[in-house]
This record gives sequence, C-alpha cells and structure tokens, in this order.
Amino acid sequence: MAAAQIRPLVAGNWKMNGLSASLAEFGAMKASAAEFAGKADLMICPPAILIALFAATAKGSGLIVGGQDCHAKVSGAHTGDISAEMLADAGAVAVIVGHSERRTDHNETDAAVKAKALAAWRAGLTAIVCVGEQLSQREAGATLKVVGGQLDGSLPDADKSSDPVSANLVVAYEPVWAIGTGLTPTPADVAQVHAFIRGKLTERYGDAGAGVRILYGGSVKPSNAGELLTIPDVNGALIGGASLKAADFLGIAAVYR
Ligand code: PEP
Repeated sequence: MAAAQIRPLVAGNWKMNGLSASLAEFGAMKASAAEFAGKADLMICPPAILIALFAATAKGSGLIVGGQDCHAKVSGAHTGDISAEMLADAGAVAVIVGHSERRTDHNETDAAVKAKALAAWRAGLTAIVCVGEQLSQREAGATLKVVGGQLDGSLPDADKSSDPVSANLVVAYEPVWAIGTGLTPTPADVAQVHAFIRGKLTERYGDAGAGVRILYGGSVKPSNAGELLTIPDVNGALIGGASLKAADFLGIAAVYR
C-alpha cells in the first residue's frame, strides 16, 4: 500500500489523568473532529472509567475512543482488571497494549502483550502495540535489536478469518527515554526505526503489513509535529501529555488538516 493511501491516526493517551469534568476538554476536541474527516483518524484513550461517557458523547463526531490496557481473558477472577470485551462494550474501538509504563510498572512481557493484542482482536478492537528502547539500549547501539525482539514477541499472527492487519493492528514506536521528557530522536533516527518496523511488518504479514499504521510517540508537541509526522513511514502519533489539552492535541493533528 502506498504511503499516501494510509490514513494517519492521531491518538491521545491520557494515562491516569482526567475526571468527569474533563468532558469539556474532550468536547472541544470533538467539536473540531469533522475538520479531519477522511484525512486522519482522531482518538482519545481516557482512563477506563471515562470510556463509556466519552464514547457516548463522541458518537457520530469522527472522534473515536480507545482503552489504555486490557486483560488477556474474557472474564474471571481478576480483581481490578478490565477485559477487551468490556472496553468494546463501553464504546472503545481500540486498545493500547504494551505501553512502556505497563511493561515497567507491571512487568509485562512480550508474551503478555501478545496475549492482550489477541484479546483485542477477539473483542473486535484494534490493537495498538507499543515498542521502544531504553536510553541505555540506544546508547549501546541496540535499538533495532530491541525493537525487533519486541515486535517478534508482541505481535500476534494474523488470523485470516478476521479483519486484515492493516485495519486491526497499529504499531507505536515510542523510545522510552523520549516519553514525557521533552527529548525526541533525530528525524533520521525516527526514519531508520520506522523503516525497520515496516520491513518487519511486511516480512511478518506480507502485503497487508504495508498498510499497518506505525505511530511515533514520545514528547510530540504542536511545535515538533510538523517535523516528526512528515517522516516516511510515520503514519501518525501516540501522544501523552500534549493530548490532555484540546488546543495542543488539535495543534498536532493540524499537520494532517
Ligand atoms: C506516551 O506515554 O505514550 C507518550 C508518548 O507520552 P508523551 O507524549 O507525554 O511523551
């Protein structure tokens, strides 16, 4: 699939931020969503308890809602956990899996991330699978080895009976040292990793891998979005801090308007 045919995705990860009063900020994003119709998909992943409220509010606006994590199982004795089916039931259309904060704070392995991605597919959600190297790994020249290993271990095999991976899989490259720090890799470094990920995706999924969106994440702001999001094989952004304010989130998405 030619790059021009891939519709970018601008996804905001609110992490553990937001209360019901945040509906006003979300509403401001919703009010501008129509401007991006056909040009980019706009998604907010709020805390799980806000998904139903946000999804109901956004219905028909073009702004879509995702989850930040899910359990691998459908249901059961897993206190505090939320299944992919529950996210879908609340109105989510996607779920982030394997975010570096989950990998670190909850010791999530590649195998656990893969099980969660499969759970997303089982529930009819798009799986947004996160990968990225630590600073020490970049400094040791091991970035591609680390990212390649994470992709090999975290990406599920395509199920021919389900949607093509271009529709139900997104990969987010997020260098861990760039998350929330204000630091970003050089455009050349981003281009190198994204081209590498594209190669891995086509190796793994054949032609369908060419249509999988690869997001860049890590300190994306309105001021650097133009540079970062126009790099070849960067098909959108996963945004943390700057997705909390409508003006910043929309200012980043404006690259695609
Ligand atoms: C993130 O955590 O996914 C992220 C990219 O955060 P930030 O934009 O704040 O660096």
